[in-house]
Amino acid sequence: MEYISTRNKNLKYNFKDIFFRGLAPDGGLFIPNQIKKYSEAEIKKLSLLSYVDLATEIIFNFCSSSLEKNKLNNIIKKSYKNFSSKEVIKLKKFGNLNLIELYHGPTLAFKDIAMQVLGNMYDEFNISSDNKVNIIVATSGDTGSAAIAALNDRKNINVFVLHPHKKISNIQRKIMTTIGSRNIYNIAIKGTFDDCQKLVKEMFSENDFRKKINMSGVNSINWARIICQIVYYFYSYFKFQNKKVSFVVPTGNFGDVFAGYVAKKMGLPIEKLIVATNENDILERVINTGEYKPTKVKPSLSPSMDVQISSNFERLLFDVLNEDDKQVSIFMNDLKSKGSFLLNKEQIAIIKKDFNAKKINDKETIEIIKNFSKEYNFVIDPHTATAVGASKDIKDGSEILILGTAHPYKFLETIKMATSQEVETPKQIAHLMDKKENYDILENKIKDVKSYILGKIS
Ligand SMILES: *Cc1c(COP(=O)(O)O)cnc(C)c1O
Repeated sequence: MEYISTRNKNLKYNFKDIFFRGLAPDGGLFIPNQIKKYSEAEIKKLSLLSYVDLATEIIFNFCSSSLEKNKLNNIIKKSYKNFSSKEVIKLKKFGNLNLIELYHGPTLAFKDIAMQVLGNMYDEFNISSDNKVNIIVATSGDTGSAAIAALNDRKNINVFVLHPHKKISNIQRKIMTTIGSRNIYNIAIKGTFDDCQKLVKEMFSENDFRKKINMSGVNSINWARIICQIVYYFYSYFKFQNKKVSFVVPTGNFGDVFAGYVAKKMGLPIEKLIVATNENDILERVINTGEYKPTKVKPSLSPSMDVQISSNFERLLFDVLNEDDKQVSIFMNDLKSKGSFLLNKEQIAIIKKDFNAKKINDKETIEIIKNFSKEYNFVIDPHTATAVGASKDIKDGSEILILGTAHPYKFLETIKMATSQEVETPKQIAHLMDKKENYDILENKIKDVKSYILGKIS
């Protein structure tokens, strides 16, 4: 399998290339030039595997050009051995809803599931000391903590994490800033998550700078993240075989739900993928009206979904446009120059075959957490709550699977607004409340960020 860019199909890359690069040199996203489709019999066979072995089978399809299977298997074993659930994820049933808890890793959010694997892949690719890698990552709260947990104290890697100043939860910030590792730099940018993401993308597309610092990225635009997330769609589907299954996904950058779409392309019989958004509803609007038009980011109670430039949508666009890289480039240029692009009726219809979308505002989010706690004596986090809210629209008889993306403890301030039910302190983070925090605050200026980074690595 080779990789191409959504904006240029002519250049081919192998897995190791795209793993280190993250973003294509033309600003597009990497995508495999073909995806293996399993037969029904093959899917049956996969259903017998443990989580780790299933992950090995699925991920190997995408990286066999650069990694041996037994090495990949070791990487995955190592990645999940410290999860507090033996099966990596946990499935729970509440009435007609099934909750997939994806938050049993070290930083209590689903992002650990992919990030731990990425951390071990960097080690496997054996970076030399005269060619240190500098990873730059933008975070709305959870990516940064997951990246830090996966990469702290690794040899020959520095990590620079940009988060929007004062726009993430206290616990999210503390998990990142109390790590005390010499290779981790936390930067609070005076701006929004979209500003942070834009800074990172700009640095990636400046070839000289990127080469000079041997820059790499672990944001969800990195294809390696997506392939790790495909696994839990398969694994949880296997608990409901022969039933119609739909997944509801709290969505920001469109990475997690895109992994579900890839699972479907690989032959997993998913009925619908439902995109749940908060008031930053660009995805809800593009899926329901065709207009992709970012507006100003509005801080919400589900900060990890406070995204208006939903980067991974470009990967879906590439499919919807029949892999027309020129047309993708035109749309992306329109987005840059005119601030939006518009899909036609046929294109919307193609998207609607696989996706639905619904927006849940903050007031509804609080109500949902409150009612869920009352009804089931169980606390869900505000991101997961948007998915529970969006699931109400499923009326096709599907078995409903909700992706539980974060542990409620990460968002205690919000939980307390909704319910007096206690949330136990997870053992992963019980120790960090009194630790010293360490981060620098920078203006939302590319020049400042670049000189900060150069200063630290010189
Ligand atoms: C990152 C994140 C999301 C959104 O995932 P995307 O892949 O960006 O769509 C949802 N919930 C939580 C808790 C997250 O950390």
